Amino acid sequence: MIIDTHLHVGYEKDYVGGSDERRQWWKTMFCNFEKPYGYSTDEALEMTVDDHLRRMDDLGISKAFLIGIDASAALGFRIDMGDMAKMVRDHPSRFIGVPGIDPMKGVSEAVDDIQRAKDLGHSGVKFFPCFGWDPTDSKYDPLYQKLMDCSMFFVMHVGSQMMPRTRLKYCSPLMIDEVAYRFPDLRIIETHLGWPWIGDALIVARKNKNVYCDFSGLVPKIHIGDVDHTANVGSYRLAEIQLPDKLLFGSDAPHGSQKDIIDMVRALPVAEGVKQKWLYDNAVRFLELGY
Ligand SMILES: [Zn+2]
Repeated sequence: MIIDTHLHVGYEKDYVGGSDERRQWWKTMFCNFEKPYGYSTDEALEMTVDDHLRRMDDLGISKAFLIGIDASAALGFRIDMGDMAKMVRDHPSRFIGVPGIDPMKGVSEAVDDIQRAKDLGHSGVKFFPCFGWDPTDSKYDPLYQKLMDCSMFFVMHVGSQMMPRTRLKYCSPLMIDEVAYRFPDLRIIETHLGWPWIGDALIVARKNKNVYCDFSGLVPKIHIGDVDHTANVGSYRLAEIQLPDKLLFGSDAPHGSQKDIIDMVRALPVAEGVKQKWLYDNAVRFLELGY
């Protein structure tokens, strides 16, 4: 069995609800991903929630973390956490809700949003500091404290970014070390193996007991083939030896293909038992830590 810890939502046909505005926002946000990832926003916008479930069934994916986004302050765009809660409610054994939270709207408003996410049945939240906030600034500590109080985790975007109005200086995995230092019991997932700062992401996960790292969006033809000095076999061997219990499979779908990344993991020259941890066991342990 497999758990996908990084499935983006909010573009589904039956979910976008025919709103041209939402379709347009989705295109604006993610058009830059089309060429490098060979992905079509128009095709993604034709998907339904049932399509997600069918594809998961075909690939042996039992559960998926639904990743939302709130970029209200920077772009006036967000995926409504109430809509996401409906997906989770309709399929409670398949989906785990992780809506986006935007502290750039104001810290107290973001804290209230975390409470609302909890009340709606979500399990964690997604932060995108790349839109222009420094997660190590102590003024954001109320967010982390609120997550602790609610027994929720956060997923933070780190690594490369191509969305409009984002800044790479707020995409460093090392920022997570600072947050984990101040909140050592808070469960954290850093994304995309921090690519291209993979070494940084790995040492942050190695040092901090509650920091896990997903390798979502690491498409074989881009990150394993052409950029083999960063995401090559050596990184995975290091992870196998030093972090067998910390890596998580995530797809970043629709920007990454669930099938391609699963196939990539299956082909890696690391022990079968470690692959099983990365595809499933570690996600189960991560979820159990908080409850
Ligand atoms: Zn993502």
